Formats: sequence, C-alpha cells, structure tokens
Amino acid sequence: MRPLWRCRRCGCPWPCSPARLALLVEYKDARSSLAVSLSLALADALDDLHRLGLDTGGVHARFLGWLRARGGLPPSAEGHNCGKPQARA
Ligand SMILES: [Zn+2]
Repeated sequence: MRPLWRCRRCGCPWPCSPARLALLVEYKDARSSLAVSLSLALADALDDLHRLGLDTGGVHARFLGWLRARGGLPPSAEGHNCGKPQARA
C-alpha cells in the first residue's frame, strides 16, 4: 500500500470502496477508533505523497470524507475537546 497508498488488491487509491466496506465492518462498534486510525493513516499518506512529489489534493476527503457520508461519527466523537457535555437539540 505504501508509499503510493494504493490498494494491494485492486490498485485503486486506498481506501477503495471494498476497503472502506471492510473498515466499516472491522470498526462496526468503534467508529471513533476508525476515524482516529484513518487520521493517522492520512498523516502518513501525506508524508509519503509529499516526499514523492505527488499531488495530495483530495487525499483528506479520500481518507475521511466518506465517514460522514455514511451517517457521520457517533456524537461522542464530535465536539469532544472542550470537556463539557454536549447540548442535545
Ligand atoms: Zn481495492
């Protein structure tokens, strides 16, 4: 996968659709952990792609944009950095 961040199976930019599905299954009960894992992978990917002189446009959306499109993160993973309970609408 590294350093080009392409899927080993299909060669598409990772995470491809099958990889996203596999991640959703693997992290079914831990969506916030999935977001953290993908964020760390994104940082590695940006490092690798910058080092190779490759375009990084769209990489953020590729790694993280699809999470929200599939229903978003659980409330516990959002707005959680102030230490206060979140107001519910
Ligand atoms: Zn693939």
